[in-house]
Amino acid sequence: MSDRIGFIGLGNMGAPMAEQLLNAGREVHVFDLSEASVEKVVGLGATAAASVAEVADGSETIITMLPAGTHVRSVYLGAGSLIDAAAPGTLLIDCSTIDVETSRAVGAAAVEAGHEMIDAPVTGGVMAARVGKLNFMVGGAEKSVERARPLLEIMGQKVLHAGPQGDGIGVKICNNMSLGICMIAAAEAMMMAKRLGLDPKRTHEIMSNASGMSWPLVNYCPLPGIVDGVPANDGYRPGFSAAMMRKDLRLAQEAALSAEANTPLGAHALAIFSHFCDSGHLETDYSGISKLIGGDAWDYPRDSGE
Ligand code: NAD
Repeated sequence: MSDRIGFIGLGNMGAPMAEQLLNAGREVHVFDLSEASVEKVVGLGATAAASVAEVADGSETIITMLPAGTHVRSVYLGAGSLIDAAAPGTLLIDCSTIDVETSRAVGAAAVEAGHEMIDAPVTGGVMAARVGKLNFMVGGAEKSVERARPLLEIMGQKVLHAGPQGDGIGVKICNNMSLGICMIAAAEAMMMAKRLGLDPKRTHEIMSNASGMSWPLVNYCPLPGIVDGVPANDGYRPGFSAAMMRKDLRLAQEAALSAEANTPLGAHALAIFSHFCDSGHLETDYSGISKLIGGDAWDYPRDSGE
């Protein structure tokens, strides 16, 4: 087997990730259901494959970057799938953000077939993918993670090992649930400060050094003109879209249900982001939730204090 890499799923994230591997001089064979997406990456030096099985043939490592669990199941499981077609010992890396149950089921099937598999979902988004600065939250056996590390370090800056296979996606879902909740909290606090007539910049500076600080407040302020380089300063162009945040909050609720975990704020954050998405903001950055919270047409109940 050569050190050839297979790459399946060349969308907003997969294409720039594959490009980083090509820029590093690696041989990459690619497949996507969209011919246009394949052509773009072939134009950068990749080799087109006609199917998942053709990618598997001769690849030492195969990376997938697919939309959701259903796509991952269809690529990995069944006749002509990756697990079926890859030579035993192939390293399979799924970077998709999917449900924990699918990730663990696919991982177990891969190991049973004699492969090594890790889940390696990313944080950072398209901009980070373009410059090779993604962060990977990785689940898998130590030796598989170390085998994958040189490739992950071409596409990203941090490789964080969470635990056994499936735990990378588990940590990512917990993290993004917390992020969604904290973004709403930051937006509520900053919008209330505005309505109270407080100076937004001074409020932000004081809160950033006080106990109410959070990552989105400090680094990704949902009000314009306070922190440099954030989507709020650019009409809330994503960045990380509200639709993506809703997807991750849904995954969190699925995980909470299966684990019988209590996540009342996670559930409420999902309801708020769904409301935002349904009112025409699927492609607005998730920090744009401040527009919903700051708007006059607020239809969430206030605590009457009784
Ligand atoms: P995308 O929809 O742009 O790309 C997905 C690609 O997969 C498409 O090109 C599609 O044709 C291809 N595909 C679907 N089914 C396939 C199959 N059976 N065989 C081959 N190709 C198939 O999605 P994206 O934005 O690149 O996101 C990919 C994953 O990364 C998602 O799980 C997403 O949640 C996660 N993610 C995205 C971002 C972001 O900012 N876009 C950030 C972090 C994580």
